[in-house]
Amino acid sequence: MAFLDFISKLNYLPLPPKEPMFRFYVEKKARLNDTHIVHRVNCELLPDISGRIEIGVFIEPDLAEFKARELFPLVKLCKYCNKDQ
Ligand SMILES: [Zn+2]
Repeated sequence: MAFLDFISKLNYLPLPPKEPMFRFYVEKKARLNDTHIVHRVNCELLPDISGRIEIGVFIEPDLAEFKARELFPLVKLCKYCNKDQ
């Protein structure tokens, strides 16, 4: 039964959580109050490739927002693609 003991112990190993990762982009063009909007890759409001800058892949939208601040002083998460957060 050693093998089964081994398998049962596996169930209690701290497995890394499978968080969904998303690629984020920031709009090049400022909106109201000089704010640049941060979108996920799957957002319908995402500008085409000439109107956006890739920020990277993140688990948390907040991290993408933080990273986008290195490019623009005023950034905001898009309400449309980040509404689940
Ligand atoms: Zn969006």
